[in-house]
Amino acid sequence: STRFDNSSPSAPPNSDARVKGEVPPMGNVIEPEVQVETAWRRAETILKAIEKASPNEKSDLELTLYQTLQTLSFTSPSTFYSLITLHLPILMPYVYTPVVGAACVNWYEVAGHAGINTGLYVDGFNSNKQSIITQLKDYKQTKSAGGVDAIVVTDGERILGLGDLGANGMGIPCGKLHLYTACGGVDPGKCLPVTLDCGCNVEEIREKETYAGVKSKRTLTTEQFDKLVENFMEASMEVFGREVLIQFEDFGNGNAFRVLEDWQPKSTCFNDDIQGTASVVLGGLISSLRLTEEVTSLKEHKFVFLGAGEAGVGIANLIAYAIRAETGCSDEESYKNIHLVDSKGLVSKSRTSELAHHKLPYAHDVGEATTLEEAVELLNPTAIIGVSAQPQTFTENVIKHMTKNHKNPIVFALSNPTSKAECTAEQAYKWSSGNCVFASGSPFAPVEINGVTKIPGQGNNAYVFPGIGLGALTAGSESISDNDMYIAAKSLSETVAQDRLDAGCLYPPLSDIRDVSKKIATDIATKAWEDGIARHPKPADVRKAVEDRMWSPFD
Ligand code: NAP
Ligand code: MN
Repeated sequence: STRFDNSSPSAPPNSDARVKGEVPPMGNVIEPEVQVETAWRRAETILKAIEKASPNEKSDLELTLYQTLQTLSFTSPSTFYSLITLHLPILMPYVYTPVVGAACVNWYEVAGHAGINTGLYVDGFNSNKQSIITQLKDYKQTKSAGGVDAIVVTDGERILGLGDLGANGMGIPCGKLHLYTACGGVDPGKCLPVTLDCGCNVEEIREKETYAGVKSKRTLTTEQFDKLVENFMEASMEVFGREVLIQFEDFGNGNAFRVLEDWQPKSTCFNDDIQGTASVVLGGLISSLRLTEEVTSLKEHKFVFLGAGEAGVGIANLIAYAIRAETGCSDEESYKNIHLVDSKGLVSKSRTSELAHHKLPYAHDVGEATTLEEAVELLNPTAIIGVSAQPQTFTENVIKHMTKNHKNPIVFALSNPTSKAECTAEQAYKWSSGNCVFASGSPFAPVEINGVTKIPGQGNNAYVFPGIGLGALTAGSESISDNDMYIAAKSLSETVAQDRLDAGCLYPPLSDIRDVSKKIATDIATKAWEDGIARHPKPADVRKAVEDRMWSPFD
């Protein structure tokens, strides 16, 4: 198969001379390679038009490519998955973020008309366990006779950085599951996208004529919401088996932490916004320890986060977990050098009474700061991590301050999409004279600084969640733990080649992602057997069991 490096997003496709330009004679079998090549040429035509288009036409064309790909995923799954696997660095943005965000905003126009809206909606106001069981059984009978391995479920309350989109959020579970198949080899016939439709608080979305979700505000009480989730979780495990993998996606942060806490011990589930993000970012941090001269362990860092939501607290919690695992220190000690800045300023002891539960471990007695700049001056961190969706908040002052005090400051500008990034790669390298270790949420092109080419790494969750899921499915894990997130982070870090690190890049090329998933899955499954939480009998060769489980469009 062809390999592409995400450092050169416009790399030309491998043109197989045997198939290119030849029209197969009538009556002959059209080989799968030809179909993939044809589909690629169609995609390329639209990609070229996107490149030349005016900003207005551009978003329409992007949605056209999104629709074309989605339609292909139903008419010819093997062609679709071959295509996106071969051209992942180029096509991922049209399968998932950022274009999936635009598709969600007008979901019923974009997906409804193209006939590609095929996930399962559960009416949050009119369901009980029995009615959900019936829905799931119907789905199984008509769409997934072989059963369901993986469910991605959202309630649409916090779609990407776009806020509450209600039932329009369905594009997210659909897109995530495509990535499960393309990157992690989960059988596309055994994937189920679900939206728990609990209404929508945004009138503009809800009252649109074409909106087919429940036209209500989010009026469920916490108790009712938790009961709905319980009914859904129990029904899913009853219909598809206790080991069905369930990924929570894009829930609002008022519910996400509690739902995860409730269900992590009782099912094979995880929340990608909290835990998948944490794992991919920790993986980058572990890799960065091979680059920073002054700091050689997580414990020696002082972290300041801009943003204390699902991503921020998820990452902070996993860093603390890793510090405890590596040093055996107390909980309190592990939180000590991690500081959060939220919309009201530095999370600190004096704010304890008004803080959400998940921020409390980070309310330290260190003084007060109302802005990130103040916090950086007060605390003098070695690492700043941006997960606030507030663009241009890593200012020249902030980065120069860090560079003055530390040889290789860590600067992670993780907010998506690109327009929300805390700073660009170019700014970070320029303001630190090329000395910072940078990573971002959205892709940035390589930057030339002082005659050296830096490759900014993209902390894309797709490096980890497919492998975590695949590992749990291979072993039949009873649950997925924080330790699994830590294992995945370490595995990911081990896949980063020295020459990439030398160019400042903390992540492997996206084109290697199936191999990365294989490695992560092998490590997760091996640990599940070690810990006695695997339901399946242990194979002689775990890596081979993982490989055998991977559905491949090329078979
Ligand atoms: P979230 O749960 O809504 O949290 C957002 C946080 O940002 C909240 O703590 C909020 O403060 C804080 N905030 C808002 N405005 C702020 C301001 N002006 N100054 C300081 N803090 C401010 O969202 P999330 O899931 O954590 O996602 C946040 C961002 O991270 C998004 O842009 C997302 O794209 C990005 N992300 C990236 C990756 C990745 O790169 N792999 C993964 C996940 C998320 P309050 O708590 O006070 O409301
Ligand atoms: Mn998400």
